Amino acid sequence: MEKYVPDIYQKSIYTINYEKLKQNGIKCILFDLDNTIAPASSSVPTKKLQELIESLKPDFKLIIFSNAMPKRVKKFSDQLGIDFYAFSLKPSQKNFKRLFKEHKFTECEVAIIGDQIQTDIAGGNIAGIKTILVNPVSTKDSVFTKLNRFLEGKKIKKMSKKNLFFKGKYYE
Ligand SMILES: [Mg+2]
Repeated sequence: MEKYVPDIYQKSIYTINYEKLKQNGIKCILFDLDNTIAPASSSVPTKKLQELIESLKPDFKLIIFSNAMPKRVKKFSDQLGIDFYAFSLKPSQKNFKRLFKEHKFTECEVAIIGDQIQTDIAGGNIAGIKTILVNPVSTKDSVFTKLNRFLEGKKIKKMSKKNLFFKGKYYE
């Protein structure tokens, strides 16, 4: 169960204390795409997202780290002017390993932000990096994600019973 517990839990990518992440030595942030920085149906970043990304660029290496197909992820990351790793199959460690091979970061210098405990958070915790959970930006999910959400709901219930995690109880 512990591998599903995020280090940080915030309402959205806009309520995260990035200054604190920087002070704690984070140099690289991996953003999940679908329902973390944009709805799964959207292919154009909002102005608000673009502004956030621009404000973070001087302090962090930013990478979209998505399970979605490369075409969609590339289109999105091109518009934001940041790198991407697509088809990551999180919680698979494949692209986490690739990241550490291609960039000389240590585990303590990398954080992942995502909306799903079974993919983003479990993947990040297994990789040994900082994990940050946010609420999904939209309730519209793909068929696969719908199944994931169902399983996730069960896990969250179990985690609450064990006093490990409570939905809506944000922490840094
Ligand atoms: Mg997602």
